Amino acid sequence: MVSALVGLLLLLSGPAPSGRGHGAGPRLERVTFTASSRLPGTVIRLAFSGRVTEFALERDARSATVRLTARPASLRSGATCIAPESLGRCAIRAVNDGVLFELSAAGQVLAADAYRDGTEAGDLLVYVHVGPVPAPATPALSVAASTVDPPGNSSDDTAAVAREDDLEKLKLDTVVLDAGHGGTDPGTIGYNRMREKDLVLDIARRVGVYLERAGFRVAYTRDDDRFIPLKDRGRIAREAGGELFVSIHANSAPDRAASGTETFFLGTHKTDAARDVIERENRVIDLEEDREHYEQYNAAQLARLRLTQSAHLRQSQDLASRIQEQYRERAGRKDRKVKEGNLYVLWSAGMPAILTEIGFISNPSEARYLTTEEGRDHIASAIFRAIRDYRDAHDAALEVAQAH
Ligand SMILES: [Zn+2]
Repeated sequence: MVSALVGLLLLLSGPAPSGRGHGAGPRLERVTFTASSRLPGTVIRLAFSGRVTEFALERDARSATVRLTARPASLRSGATCIAPESLGRCAIRAVNDGVLFELSAAGQVLAADAYRDGTEAGDLLVYVHVGPVPAPATPALSVAASTVDPPGNSSDDTAAVAREDDLEKLKLDTVVLDAGHGGTDPGTIGYNRMREKDLVLDIARRVGVYLERAGFRVAYTRDDDRFIPLKDRGRIAREAGGELFVSIHANSAPDRAASGTETFFLGTHKTDAARDVIERENRVIDLEEDREHYEQYNAAQLARLRLTQSAHLRQSQDLASRIQEQYRERAGRKDRKVKEGNLYVLWSAGMPAILTEIGFISNPSEARYLTTEEGRDHIASAIFRAIRDYRDAHDAALEVAQAH
């Protein structure tokens, strides 16, 4: 069945690339494929001779086709596109006043996105994640059947089992809780000498208990009072097989009236309001010995990374919104909203990641609230519920993708 389906895809991929197209606009010079270093999938670079004004990505789930049109643009004479076999077949051709790139995937297209390369003059990047070929008929039923009947020798059974394994692998299972600061780095010091590092470790442990009860695997970057360099936090998270990174911090401000919660995801759209937090949470780098490592972390690198981590960023933003909603609706906290921040620790995680500021310990009444059992439980359960709801939505979307 698999070979029949691939045959169909070949037909759908249409004629071979044409050498015509000397129209206006930058020229598509070449197409290259690289495995994404951060995500499961492939980054396809469409190298243009200049900046394309307009581009659009279309994804047809039924025919497993991804199409990108760029306008105005032309095609370098003789330019071709050869995709790795595991990815599928690709074609480029001139269309009207532009060019069309088309990938007929060798399997199910689980994710597809297109961006400009922030650093190369005109290049467009297409990220695709191609999964196993879906079973041809009623996939949900064939998966169910394979769990009841012992797997036989037919290739259909093997495919169904493999797909089910893949689905399990993609499900959100391991959450990494990152209590900010620790050891020689106390974080911010608040009202009544409350220390950020102690508060956030306690909150992280509470969140962990809730998560474990709900069936999550939980990993901690630190579970005691010790100093951990920012870059090691990301490494610990990845080595633990983390799929979601939640960094917990507390805020402070010279103005004692400042209060409320805010949650960050990685981004370059800076706002003045967020600058203080970003500076403070990144400042720990000054305490670390290996400064050079961080010197590579500059705006250009971040901009580049943003392109390849786009799927993560959307997921991170979704989780950040859910956390803020829980703080506001269920814990009754003042909502300082979701913000984008150039935060090193989120970048280093290499997975969907957020940093949440649970309140201002410089504000006497908020500090008092965060001293009480009730306050801490409210905050911890708000974070927990947001993660749980995020997982449920994430897994439901996977089931839907799998059933198509
Ligand atoms: Zn902090």
